[in-house]
Amino acid sequence: MIGFGYDVHKLAPGESLILGGITLESRLGTVAHSDGDVLLHAIMDALLGALSLGDIGLHFPDTKDEWRGADSIAMLKQVMRLVSAEGAHVVNIDSTVVLEAPRLRPHIESMRERIADAIGLDVKRVSIKATTSERLGFVGREEGVAAYAVVQVEYD
Ligand code: MG
Repeated sequence: MIGFGYDVHKLAPGESLILGGITLESRLGTVAHSDGDVLLHAIMDALLGALSLGDIGLHFPDTKDEWRGADSIAMLKQVMRLVSAEGAHVVNIDSTVVLEAPRLRPHIESMRERIADAIGLDVKRVSIKATTSERLGFVGREEGVAAYAVVQVEYD
């Protein structure tokens, strides 16, 4: 099965920027109820989508204090417990982060390793790409960061 996920968070000064489980040096960070890790949120939605298990809003409601400032790696591990409970496993992940600054290239390998470790997957099966929005739209104006992910999931 294939799953797809998309997420956006607003950017503002004085907030931290966490992507793929890695805290980045950045002038702007995400405004969010959780840690605002758009990449992990898109991946989690893709995992849930592949198995028709709803979305992260259903599993981690932002009205609940339990998930305030939540570590998205812990949330991802919880989603993986749902995937395992369905008798399924992840084959591969492909993703794209859309962000004007900072450049993500130097951090991609660390992010891949962090995600692969949380999922229990070979790092070769975790792809992360980065692009800018060519100064266009809300990402281009540095008002937000977006991420897209697709995953393939198979029954054991
Ligand atoms: Mg989110």
